[in-house]
Amino acid sequence: MHIEISDGVFLIDTLAAGTPDLVASYLIKGEKSALVDPGYPSSANSILSELQALSGKGFQVDFLMPTHVHLDHAGGIGGLEEAMPNARVLVNQHGLKHLIDPSKLVATAAGLFGEKAMTVYGTPRPLHAERLEPVGELYELDLGAEKKLRIFYTPGHAWHHMSVFLEKERLLITGDAAGLYYSGFNFPIPATPPPGFDEEQYVKSLTKFMNMDPAGLLLPHFGLVRENVRAFLETNVGTIRRWTSMAAETVKTGGVLWTVSSNSSWLMSRIAAGERQKRFPITSSGASSLAQWVATHTRKRERPSSERPFWDFCQDLVFANSLST
Ligand SMILES: [Zn+2]
Repeated sequence: MHIEISDGVFLIDTLAAGTPDLVASYLIKGEKSALVDPGYPSSANSILSELQALSGKGFQVDFLMPTHVHLDHAGGIGGLEEAMPNARVLVNQHGLKHLIDPSKLVATAAGLFGEKAMTVYGTPRPLHAERLEPVGELYELDLGAEKKLRIFYTPGHAWHHMSVFLEKERLLITGDAAGLYYSGFNFPIPATPPPGFDEEQYVKSLTKFMNMDPAGLLLPHFGLVRENVRAFLETNVGTIRRWTSMAAETVKTGGVLWTVSSNSSWLMSRIAAGERQKRFPITSSGASSLAQWVATHTRKRERPSSERPFWDFCQDLVFANSLST
């Protein structure tokens, strides 16, 4: 499935783990074309057939651009580059080595989500160094036909994170720097995975977004935010502040924020079963990544005696969010 968001700007649903509305990829077509965030390794084929449906058989993009190197954004590149021998891969300079050797990425993701989930996500292929081009603070890319992209550094979710601004349309492809926002939710969910989450950088990147005054946000998880863009970004800042202070407080008072990977597998299976519209599982997915970050951050690694404290914590977050919106 794809949607034309603006002239020459398309959302492609990557059907992550066979599930619609979970991971979006964005195609920008000028005289040349760029595909941002090609999804999980297992999504490469569905993206290829969407590109064909959009632009005919044999269509190749000129640039593949993961906003960051996490598997749900960069994993699909290996599967696509084979079909697109001329495509260049633009990637943040701090993430580049992980595309050449994805073993560390895979190990981190397996630790977070569990081995079972990894079989659904697929395994990323290592990329050849000569296909890759590092991006630093700012990279300007002119695709022709008035499609000018400003690719800029936005750490916080991860150190290797960049976002893409479409100058004429004033649309901003945020990557995970503006959290997750699924249909049926009325608040953005911070995306705070260990080991890279950094609260201050996260807020700085959101401030950059606000200063650009975008007309719309294109989120990988999931879709277009066109209304109340500034309020959406401000809510993101408020939520991240609230979550991190609540998490820190919980640790300080002896609470255990260590979550087992079975929680994540459970969440994944619920999401795959189509229950993602319900607030609790998705919010706790955000909470679980935050909890794991806090655990890493504070070097608290003890296993909870029961799962109850963790679920209490998730409930608190849901409650806190429902109060604020
Ligand atoms: Zn993501």
